[in-house]
Amino acid sequence: MQKDQFAYCGLNCARCRANFADIKDKINALNIAFEKVNMKEIVKAIPFMRFKYSGYKKFTTFFSAECPGCRNGGGNPFCSIRKCAHKKSFFTCAECDKLCSKFNTLLKIHDDGEIQTNISGIKQDGLDSYAEKLKV
Ligand code: SF4
Ligand code: SF4
Repeated sequence: MQKDQFAYCGLNCARCRANFADIKDKINALNIAFEKVNMKEIVKAIPFMRFKYSGYKKFTTFFSAECPGCRNGGGNPFCSIRKCAHKKSFFTCAECDKLCSKFNTLLKIHDDGEIQTNISGIKQDGLDSYAEKLKV
């Protein structure tokens, strides 16, 4: 993979994009199923469903935008990790001795170990060699 696909926190933007593409496909399939039963008209006739459907639409619209990646303005615009690493002129947080408390929430969300694996891989092999090892 390209090394600039690593976000400052160690997440792999290419992998995230692939997961989002999968979600998008499933949303499209669900929307087609809704069209078949004319859900737009059904919810107009049933008030409590109208509200829920509008929430669903707003939520799923979020996934229709293409994320440009963490280094190109994607991700959380208020991310303190990106701000901190950028200020220290670090390419990733692997340049710090250990992951700081700014990671507390992020590690709960990404509980599959991707961040820790990538950060320790970058520390061990160096950014270029570790990036080469990863396919996506
Ligand atoms: S915005 Fe922050 S948490 Fe999100 S990928 Fe970038 S560095 Fe990681
Ligand atoms: S203190 Fe280090 S580990 Fe924490 S956000 Fe800043 S660069 Fe990353």
